[in-house]
Formats: sequence, C-alpha cells, structure tokens
Amino acid sequence: MRGLLVFSALLVAAFSQKRFVGDQVLRVLTDKEEHIALLRELEESEDLQLDYWDVPSKLGLPLDVRVPSQSLQPVKTFLESNSIPYTTMIEDVQKLLDEEKRAMRRARKLKRSCSWSEFFSFYHTLDEIYSWMDYLVARHPNLVSKIQIGESYEKRPLYVLKFSTGKSRYRAIWIDTGIHSREWITQATGVWIANKIATEYGKNASLTALLDCMDIFLEIVANPDGFAYTHSRDRLWRKTRSINPGSLCVGVDPNRNWGAGFGGLGASSNPCSQMYHGPRPFSENETRAIANFILGHGNVAAVISIHSYSQVLMYPYGYTSQPAPDRQELDALAKEAVEALAAVHGTRYKYGNVFSTIYPAGGITIDWTYDIGVKYSYTFELRDTGCYGFLLPASQIIPTAEETWPALMKIMEHARDHPY
Ligand SMILES: [Zn+2]
Repeated sequence: MRGLLVFSALLVAAFSQKRFVGDQVLRVLTDKEEHIALLRELEESEDLQLDYWDVPSKLGLPLDVRVPSQSLQPVKTFLESNSIPYTTMIEDVQKLLDEEKRAMRRARKLKRSCSWSEFFSFYHTLDEIYSWMDYLVARHPNLVSKIQIGESYEKRPLYVLKFSTGKSRYRAIWIDTGIHSREWITQATGVWIANKIATEYGKNASLTALLDCMDIFLEIVANPDGFAYTHSRDRLWRKTRSINPGSLCVGVDPNRNWGAGFGGLGASSNPCSQMYHGPRPFSENETRAIANFILGHGNVAAVISIHSYSQVLMYPYGYTSQPAPDRQELDALAKEAVEALAAVHGTRYKYGNVFSTIYPAGGITIDWTYDIGVKYSYTFELRDTGCYGFLLPASQIIPTAEETWPALMKIMEHARDHPY
C-alpha cells in the first residue's frame, strides 16, 4: 500500500506542473570580487536548487536568483553572514504565475467570443501560435509563407515565417525569438512583429520600401520543445529538452551551443547548469537548423536574436574582449536603435558589446553569425530591468513590441542601405 502511495506520488510529480509556492527571486547587487566568487559557489550547490536568472560574473550588475522556498532561509543566512547585499525582487513566484494563468484563460474566452483581434495582448501556447501562423499565411498569401527549417529534438517542426514580395532571391534579414523558452515576452513580440509586417506592407511607406528589396525570415518559437514544456510542466524552463547521456539533467543552453568561442567563458560543461553548452557545437537540432538555414541562404545581411530581460541591445563579441572589426559602425547603429526605441514609451536601453555590457559568453548566436560574415548581428534583451524578469505581465506585451519595432527597423534599413 505504502509502495503504491509513493508510486502514485511520483507519478503525479512526474506529470503535473511544477509549482513555485513561496519561491522568491532575490536581487543581489555587489561590487566585490570575492562576493562574485561566493555566488558562483552557491550556484553549484545541488541541495539548494537555485535558479540563476543571470550569470554571476560582472561587478555592479544586479544578479537575480530564484530561490525555492525551502532554500530561502539558508540562502538569506549565507548572504547576510557574508555581508552580501540583496533585496527581494519577487515575493512569491507562484502568485505571479497564477495571475499569468488567469490572463491566459481570459484570452481563451475572448478568442472564442470575438476572433483574433485580441490575440496580441496575451501569452499563448505553442499550438495557438502555430495555428495563428497558418491563419496569417492564409490571410496574406502573396506576402507571407511558412517554411520548415528542421525538427526539434522531440520532433516538433521548426517553422519560420517568410515575408517576401520578390520573385527573385533577395538579401535577407533573420530574426528569431524564444530560443530561451521561458522568455515569453520574446515569442509574444515575435507574433506582434509578424502581424505588423503582414498587415502594414503596402500601407507603411518605410516597411514597404524595405520589403521591396529584402526578405524577412522570422522564427517565432526557436525552441518549441522548451516552450511546450514551459506551458505543460515548468514555466521557468530555459534550455532545449535533449537528453544528456550519463546525467539526470535535461537540456542544453541553445545560446551557448554555437560554434564560435564554444565552451569558453560564461558557458558551463555541467549538464545541470542553465548555461550548459552541450557536448559539441551545434549538438542541438534547434541551433543547427538556424545555422544551416543561414549558410544555405548565403545572402543574410542581418541577424537579430531576441531575448529577455534587462533592456539592452548588444553586438559581438561575447566570447572575447577583443573589439569586433566593425565595432564603431555597430555601436553607432545600436545607439540610433535604442534612441528610436526610447522615443516610443520612454523605455531606456543600454547598448554595447556582449562581453563588456553584460558578461563574457562563449558559443552565442550572434558571435557565430558575425564570424561567418553577417556584419549586422545583434541581440536584444527586452523588458524589464527586474520587477518581473521572465514573468512580465501580459499587459506589457503590446508596449514592448511597439517600442522594439522602430529599433528593428533602424537595423534592417541600415543593413539594406549598407550592402557589404
Ligand atoms: Zn535568453
């Protein structure tokens, strides 16, 4: 009987959604090198089960950590006894998740009653996004098509929306959102962008001029396995869902898995780490598919990979402190882009290279694309700067997308006007 009870408890645990009741997100702010070292040690402790939302590597940058309720006391004692300052960023993670769920239920009711018009103000599941993509293609068959660039580890199709007016093969822009699955504001922004492009071509002069000589490829859910998992089991899942032989921990960080500076600084060789780089470059179907697409296309002029959170716009490099050869031009364009972004709702972004703006990071998307010759390689970290982090309320989807759009346009237009 007891065995049966244990078995059913295990079964429930295995198939139910992970809950975060009483978990807190602490914000640690330190300017001492020895504190960073202590925080790194803390991260390694498997008993505490900490979920670092950033990398503990840069002095003066806040480090946000989700602490499971049962670890709160030891972690707070540890921080206090080492005089490491912290504040509480999120009091109870589960409360925010419950609110997010309620909003999604409201969205479903609205959809049943009125159509797609409210679609953009809510977060959606993978199936909802994939069927909306089909709807978009059906509504705009002369501009939008859907292509499949590969298959995820769990055999989900990797779909990309292609926006093209030309019969010939144009230079192209690549945009991806959601390669880290828990960064829901990014997939939601991707949906909004797709709709913007499809509905405003022919009406908006600058967008029309852009599409008249360039194609845009947009992969809204770049990590569908991880995204499905954030809905079904663990809202805070970041990595892919591939099995790591010899380890109980699942998944690879798809933004440490690229073949530039692979395995270097800011990546981990521990399969249990959030920054696990994987067994080899492009071990993940999800990264390999994008890389093959870009190489196969042969004429991609800009790559924009969209993440959250912290409000920064960055260019290469992440794996080295060496300046990129095009640093000056990339920096000037980033400045223009963040100014255009701020002009919409007053949201302030920092900008610079990855290495010195946030932290060293080997194996990231934009370093690889830059090194193979895509000069305009950028990565965004969208809202916010740490009230909600990955749990940004749905009420911020539209403003976030609205302000991101002119920044994207700046980069895309610059790429169009400066062939290389
Ligand atoms: Zn990310």
